[in-house]
Amino acid sequence: TLSDRLSESFKSLRGKGKLSEADIDATAREIRLALLEADVALPVVKDFVGAVKERARGAEVSGALNPAQQVIKIVNEELITILGGETRRLRFAKNPPTVIMLAGLQGAGKTTLAAKLALWLKAQDKSPMLVAADLQRPNAVQQLQVNGERAGVTVFAPEPGNGVGDPVSVARAGVEEARRTLHDVVIIDTAGRLGIDEELMAQAAGIRDAVNPDEVLFVVDAMIGQDAVNTAQAFLDGVGYDGVVLTKLDGDARGGAALSIAKMTGKPVMFASNGEKLTDFDLFHPDRMASRILDMGDLLTLIEQAEKNFDADQAAKAAEKLQSGDFTLDDFLDQMQQVKKMGSLTKMLGMLPGMGQFREQLDNFDEREIDRIEAIIHSMTPGERANPKMIDGSRRSRIAKGSGRTVAEINQLVDRFFEARKMMQQMARGGGMPGMPGSPG
Ligand code: GDP
Ligand code: MG
Repeated sequence: TLSDRLSESFKSLRGKGKLSEADIDATAREIRLALLEADVALPVVKDFVGAVKERARGAEVSGALNPAQQVIKIVNEELITILGGETRRLRFAKNPPTVIMLAGLQGAGKTTLAAKLALWLKAQDKSPMLVAADLQRPNAVQQLQVNGERAGVTVFAPEPGNGVGDPVSVARAGVEEARRTLHDVVIIDTAGRLGIDEELMAQAAGIRDAVNPDEVLFVVDAMIGQDAVNTAQAFLDGVGYDGVVLTKLDGDARGGAALSIAKMTGKPVMFASNGEKLTDFDLFHPDRMASRILDMGDLLTLIEQAEKNFDADQAAKAAEKLQSGDFTLDDFLDQMQQVKKMGSLTKMLGMLPGMGQFREQLDNFDEREIDRIEAIIHSMTPGERANPKMIDGSRRSRIAKGSGRTVAEINQLVDRFFEARKMMQQMARGGGMPGMPGSPG
């Protein structure tokens, strides 16, 4: 799956401090393959990968995220952008009724969607009416009536012998009826064909011209993969539409259709249909779809939190101190506490799907070690913390007693501090080590 491929590609980024050109290229190749496998259209894949590469190249090396997380974040943000950013809401007419027309191939899920949408609108205190303008299939009208009854909404259908025998007049009469009976939304179900068909397009365009809809929604089965783009384009040319509804997302569709359609047509996906029950329906959320495509659970939320928790100011201050040479044990402790905050997040991340490859890094991280260091440093006087060189033998045994640790442990900590300070000063001079808290940049 796409998620497996991405996880696989991120594995090679593990433990690296910075995204090199080779890393970026290798990752881009994997993302490209993964998207193609997910049935995303080639031009969309090219654009997408280009955008991710561009951003990865220009990305500032983050103090809060490791390179793998950083790439995931970029991939996710680009996915959301292509999927339309914010959820696009229905636009209701200033003068009701709002007319919504459904268009799409046969079997796409229009008739089902008509009832789902009606039920959803009812929950928002709207009073929708359905209009059966699919007179193509023998049972189409009855199917809408059954669905309408389940949703508890009125269905306008042609009566035998009442003079409205063609879909265009039914649609027109339906809207009139809604106006007369004070329904504030009219949903017009239309006929589909098995393939793209001129006569079908002409009929849909005829209905559109007759009722002048506020929203035309193109309904498309997410399972049809690559074909979705051609169909979406044909309906855009033949009928035109304002938004897209993806259906059958309860299947194992990999989300490729959503990405392709949104990118190729520039039309927002507005609703998602994910089951045969009338309640299996919701607004389309680009961010959720992106996580679904990435299949990384709540990882993205956690990445956000990691970034928020990481105190960039504090890191910058520490870096400044390093360069001026007065990095103290207090600063050391601050840094440790930052690492601890990040560490518990990182541990949580490790429990999520797709993050298994970071296990090794996570297992090497021991929060209790930081607690011990904290206890020792807290047993030092402010003078000792500011000027660790003064911590001689007698001070060490006093600190050991105060913190409940052994003198050996105190020695180890002080040595570690001096080592760390030396290393960090070297790095600070050399331009810093990316990705490490406290390093400049
Ligand atoms: P239409 O020809 O465009 O009107 O499509 P229908 O509404 O008749 O739906 C075609 C078939 O797809 C029906 O069997 C529906 O029950 C089914 N269907 C519609 N939407 C969904 C969905 O979101 N998930 C699943 N699993 N089936 C759906
Ligand atoms: Mg139908």
